[in-house]
Amino acid sequence: LTSFVGFSNLPQQWHQKSIQQGFDFNLLVVGESGLGKSTLLNTMFEVPVHNLDTPHTYDSESIQIQTTNIELEESGVKLRLNVIDTPGFGDNINNLDSWKVIMEEIDQRFDQYFEAEENLSVGLSGTAKDPRVHACLFFIEPSGHTMKPLDVVTMKKLHKKVNLVPVIAKSDTLTEEELAQFKHAVLSELEAQEIDFFTPPTYLNDDEETKGEVSELISNIPFAVVGSTSLVVNKEGNAVLGREYPWGVIEVHNSEHNDFLKLRSLLISGHLEDLRDNTKKLYERYRSEKLLKLDV
Ligand code: GDP
Repeated sequence: LTSFVGFSNLPQQWHQKSIQQGFDFNLLVVGESGLGKSTLLNTMFEVPVHNLDTPHTYDSESIQIQTTNIELEESGVKLRLNVIDTPGFGDNINNLDSWKVIMEEIDQRFDQYFEAEENLSVGLSGTAKDPRVHACLFFIEPSGHTMKPLDVVTMKKLHKKVNLVPVIAKSDTLTEEELAQFKHAVLSELEAQEIDFFTPPTYLNDDEETKGEVSELISNIPFAVVGSTSLVVNKEGNAVLGREYPWGVIEVHNSEHNDFLKLRSLLISGHLEDLRDNTKKLYERYRSEKLLKLDV
């Protein structure tokens, strides 16, 4: 099993200095407990981002923000991964305003950046510590019906401020047909509610293959994912990360079994820079609105 997370797969224009300094990736994770968030993160980053044995502790009355910082290194490239978790989301009876806590966190991080930018002595270069949220990985329960009102409300509140990446959690719990229908239902609802989600851009000088890959990614949103940190033996007799069932094995890294690799490409190995670029645009919008409010 080769270890490869994929963030060292940087665009060519990335210069040596950035590589030495490393860069930040601030990933906000939203979804009810039990949807496989910790498992998926640990699978994706190949380190225990969250300890799976100890349930997260939180005050059950409200949702909380918990940040985990991990420094990863791959082929000499350093990635400071900051996972911003939201334990308690959806766990209470009245939680329709859970989005407020999450929104405050996003705003606070924009404000931190704003202040640093104002205070030029801090010298924000392209690679200095960046507190802004670069992506929001949103876990949808594989109910097979529709999304929960809480999910819709939350996404509707957040989508203008963050690169939203909706995923169908634990997709192996649905049959192929149920999954296709559910994906369609989720996508229709996102469209009906006019909720924007992140789609990777294509560039003028992209070759046909790259353009094809990007449109393939986009056409599979919302990604249906499976996480597992356990090795199982597949039908070719190889040890792979997966989940074992009486009828066979679901392989994490097999695109015919689930969209894990597509998600990894979108978040890390293919489009990390696009996420960071679009974060700048989202921030610029926040900044102009803030300046309007401050009346300067
Ligand atoms: P979290 O509370 O959202 O962080 O969820 P966990 O990662 O702790 O997972 C909750 C339970 O779901 C555990 O028993 C996991 O083994 C299981 N689980 C995690 N990912 C998957 C998945 O992709 N498919 C299935 N069927 N179960 C999963």
